[in-house]
Amino acid sequence: MCEPKINIIDVFGSNVFSDAVMRERLPKNTYKSFNRVLEGLEDLTPAVADVMANAMKDWAIEKGATHYCHWFQPMTGLTAEKHDSFISPTPQGRTLMEFSGKELIQGEPDASSFPSGGLRVTFEARGYTAWDCTSPVFIKEDGKNITMYIPSAFCSYTGEALDKKTPMLRSMDALSKQAVRVLKTLGDSCVKRVMGTLGPEQEYFLIDKAFYAKRLDLALTGRTLFGAPSPRGQEMEDHYFGALHERIASYMHDVNLELWKLGVSAKTQHNEVSPAQYELAPVFGTANVATDHNQLTMETLRKVATRHGFTCLLHEKPFVGVNGSGKHNNWSLCTDTGVNLLDPGSTPHDNMVFLVFLCAIVRAVDQYANLLRASVATAGNEHRLGANEAPPAIVSIFLGDQLTDIFEQLAGDGAKSSRQGGELRLGISTLPTLPKDCTDRNRTSSFAFTGNKFEFRMVGSNQSTAGPTFVLNTIVADVLCEIADELEKSKDVKASAQNILRKIATDHKRIVFNGDNYCAGWVAEAERRGLANLVSSASALATLMDERHVTLFAKHKVLSKTELQARSDILLESFTRTIHIEAKTMLSMARRQILPAAVRYSEHLANAAVAIGSAGASGTAHQQMLQNLCGLIGELKDAVEFLDKAAAQAGSVEGHLKQAEAFRDDVIPAMQKVRKAGDALEMIVDAELWPLPTYAEMLFVK
Ligand code: ADP
Ligand code: MG
Repeated sequence: MCEPKINIIDVFGSNVFSDAVMRERLPKNTYKSFNRVLEGLEDLTPAVADVMANAMKDWAIEKGATHYCHWFQPMTGLTAEKHDSFISPTPQGRTLMEFSGKELIQGEPDASSFPSGGLRVTFEARGYTAWDCTSPVFIKEDGKNITMYIPSAFCSYTGEALDKKTPMLRSMDALSKQAVRVLKTLGDSCVKRVMGTLGPEQEYFLIDKAFYAKRLDLALTGRTLFGAPSPRGQEMEDHYFGALHERIASYMHDVNLELWKLGVSAKTQHNEVSPAQYELAPVFGTANVATDHNQLTMETLRKVATRHGFTCLLHEKPFVGVNGSGKHNNWSLCTDTGVNLLDPGSTPHDNMVFLVFLCAIVRAVDQYANLLRASVATAGNEHRLGANEAPPAIVSIFLGDQLTDIFEQLAGDGAKSSRQGGELRLGISTLPTLPKDCTDRNRTSSFAFTGNKFEFRMVGSNQSTAGPTFVLNTIVADVLCEIADELEKSKDVKASAQNILRKIATDHKRIVFNGDNYCAGWVAEAERRGLANLVSSASALATLMDERHVTLFAKHKVLSKTELQARSDILLESFTRTIHIEAKTMLSMARRQILPAAVRYSEHLANAAVAIGSAGASGTAHQQMLQNLCGLIGELKDAVEFLDKAAAQAGSVEGHLKQAEAFRDDVIPAMQKVRKAGDALEMIVDAELWPLPTYAEMLFVK
């Protein structure tokens, strides 16, 4: 049966309290005032908030909503919400439907059960959520429940940020302020605001729900802790961009529909490199809204998967031996006059604005490489970076032929020419001549210039885009501030700008690398260049509290020292806890599932060997199989005991960093031993007795 056709134009944004809805429903004055608030020209008054709240409530109720909620992003990296209904009972036993400006602007969730890194202790419970009016209010339909969502920031009673949105908004302000200063010195006084833009490509896996249900590791940790390699992996290179399987295509259709209703501009979808791996990319937006939308995207991918009998895995490395998942954060700078500041134009060598911003980013990335590395340091990403499927843990920049050539000219006596792309003729009269880009692509770089934006490729698939983005915004703001300071006091701006460019191109040459980031030679070369290679997340997080990082965040009012310390503690703790949960899950699976299955099989073999012997035939083969099996059972049992002790010992280490290091150095290797023995058993134990779905099943059966 054919379903009715969907009109995307009607569907898109239908659940968003968008500009169009506001224009239609708000009194003209309120609409105007609110737009001035958005532009940062006015504060939101209680009167405007009341009118807005009322219009929102009417709109939401017409759409079937019964509740509203402040939707915020605590430091778990996930989102949080507490619903309140619109009802307000009357003395007559009936109810009004009410929603005030105060309720729109402020919420008061208990802050004590969210990670606060010591900013809040349990008895100091008060926290506030504050409406972020730059991200539109929307309606979400979850089963029968229809709720109006108010994107919000989250802070403590003492005013410290307890979330990921607050530093994001602060960093956007810092970036805008410094970028506007620089533009002004370069002769552009029209620009009042510069926005960081973000387009995150989201990778994910889909496996059948029936397999997921049988895997404790997937349910508790998001990744497989055991699993022998499938006889077939990704070596045929036939999944990437392959034709979509019908079941997957239907799933993607429903995901898109849900996202479009929420105003999330889901645009690109395709099969990724690994079997059972896919990608979704939106059209980019301002960094703050794009981050909210990425949270909605991850949630929708999971939710719709369940409806289709799948489970969506967003972990960075759900399966060993095939590629893991990342999130390419495409990032650029856009003025309120609509100009992309990273658009090189056709002759970048004489595009001063572009060159200044490009060089500012190069300097920022080189100076604060450790901070960028720390912004993607999670337990999940540990398995991915440097495993020849994602960039190494070394931060470097790919500029491509054209810009590298210009960068080298800048270090000399100034940029005088730009290489051009030309044309590509395929030699067949029926195929068109293609305009050729002036630079090839490089998929292996951690921070690559891709035409008119940078692509930060180290971000993990499961991460909020907020952390890496507010770091990027802040470090670039910092260098722009230096540049603005210098240009503002210069008598000859052009000459000073040339000087700045020359200095940056000379001082920061080392961070530019256009070669293969996956090859071993790069590690050695990077070391020669003095670039850091913080292989482990714990080492990367250890740099967070460096004095210069504290100064940076404080200077631009993105995070105070206390707030940064809290974040550092939370990130280290989360790293440790993740590995601890994995270790405990592994122990449980080994003891309660894998060892019992192996013992049962040994019993079968032993019985068979005896029976065969008494029937007068040779039981040698059976005995050898049994011997081998018993050897592995012993190996697994020993490894399990070793892991148990290692985890207990690491668990008792004092201090966030020391404990994270103990888990990294002692527990992870102990887990690897358990896995090795467990996987070896999987290769020989009777499939009928094996308690876990295999890699082959999970990755290939649809
Ligand atoms: P690819 O996989 O080839 O890198 P995709 O089309 O999958 O490209 O993703 C590119 C992403 O970059 C999209 O989300 C797109 O919207 C985003 N993007 C494009 N221009 C900008 C920009 N100026 N700022 C931020 N993101 C951008
Ligand atoms: Mg990409």
